[in-house]
Amino acid sequence: MTTTTRFAPSPTGVLHVGNVRTALHNSMLAKKSGGRFLLRIDDTDAARSREDYVAAIRADLAWLGLHPDGEERQSARLDLYAEGFEKLKAAGRVYPCWETSQELDLKRKVALGRGLPPIYDRAALSLTEAEREAKAAGEAPHWRFKLDHSEPITWHDGVRGPQKFDAGQLSDPVVRRADGSWLYMLPSVIDDIAMGVTDVLRGEDHVSNTAVQLQMFTALGAPPPRFAHEALLVGSEGKLSKRLGSLGCDAFRARGIEPGALVALLARLGTSLPVEAIADRDALAASFNLATFGRAPARFDEEELARLNTALIHAMPYHQVAARLPSGMDEAAWAAIRPNVTVLDDAAQWWAVVTGPIEAPALADEDKAFVAQAAAALEAGGADWQALIAALKLMSERKGKALFQPLRQALTGLDHGPDMASLLPLIGASEAQARLLRAAG
Ligand code: GLU
Repeated sequence: MTTTTRFAPSPTGVLHVGNVRTALHNSMLAKKSGGRFLLRIDDTDAARSREDYVAAIRADLAWLGLHPDGEERQSARLDLYAEGFEKLKAAGRVYPCWETSQELDLKRKVALGRGLPPIYDRAALSLTEAEREAKAAGEAPHWRFKLDHSEPITWHDGVRGPQKFDAGQLSDPVVRRADGSWLYMLPSVIDDIAMGVTDVLRGEDHVSNTAVQLQMFTALGAPPPRFAHEALLVGSEGKLSKRLGSLGCDAFRARGIEPGALVALLARLGTSLPVEAIADRDALAASFNLATFGRAPARFDEEELARLNTALIHAMPYHQVAARLPSGMDEAAWAAIRPNVTVLDDAAQWWAVVTGPIEAPALADEDKAFVAQAAAALEAGGADWQALIAALKLMSERKGKALFQPLRQALTGLDHGPDMASLLPLIGASEAQARLLRAAG
């Protein structure tokens, strides 16, 4: 069977870094096995789902370079859910309930007060036929899935290893509201069956959902997919942070983070594989292995992300960045400037130093005389830094910083920057000479 994974966001907000990680891992898992990676928009909650979020999710995935092999929307599949629901109803695996949320709240409080877990007491199952009819005449029920308590629920989790749940310790989940709308649990299972999903990889906040959903697969007569739950992401301070929950692709983009940096970090964060500035997506996918995932929360460190970003930019070939560079900036300029950028936007600032005009530095008198000498030497030797330095060494007593620094200041207006040997030819002999003369006063 073709490996099929899915990323199933609810369009009730933009993707945050945790969602991005789940999407990435699903895409890598599919890619590694030559399978399919699907996008499923979980938009059954009509009140909270928004079209602009759907568009933002698609745009973010495209920015990240995660291209789904197909897309489904739950709001377009309601008939399928009704069909599955009828099947469960016929099998006696869903049952109607009429408790109000206040009543349920009270039941929970009472249970907790007695030191018991707040599990739904199945009171609706003990209603007589007559009681049920009377209730049904008054109002529409909501529906719960009836868990099978006869044996423990077990599975081998791709990350967490053997898992075991006592179904009796779980509440029968509400699957359908009184207004006919669907809660997350059942549609997800019906879709996973219909879409041929072979591997469900998601956050560990879904572990107990898996226990319930495994019974739903069985009740619907379908073999369940493999399940794996990855440990959650925490901030660099080691806590589940609010900040992480709101950190989205827009924020990274605005900060000059390349999608490849986010991908390289998230691909291996929380695994035993080293986080490295790997730009090759196929190589990353080939190394993807659930067995390397740890069970401890993974720390997302923004400084590590910034470092990876810079390392990746430093390795980027010109053709890959050309369209995003200032116009006129050629391959030699990229090679000269690249080591001095931490985010790609920095290139513009260095390119402006090359093209000028620059602000002439205020030099000390002896330095002024020296750069005047340099202007003359440049006239003779052209825009060749080594030749210029060699000539100036002979002409002056200077060496080291005293030799280089006034030249750098006169030529760039700055105390630091890209290697002068690469920069000088870009500035060009006549412009360089003009700058030296201006600095000489
Ligand atoms: N829409 C669900 C969520 O965002 C999907 C969970 C799942 O992967 O099944 O949590």
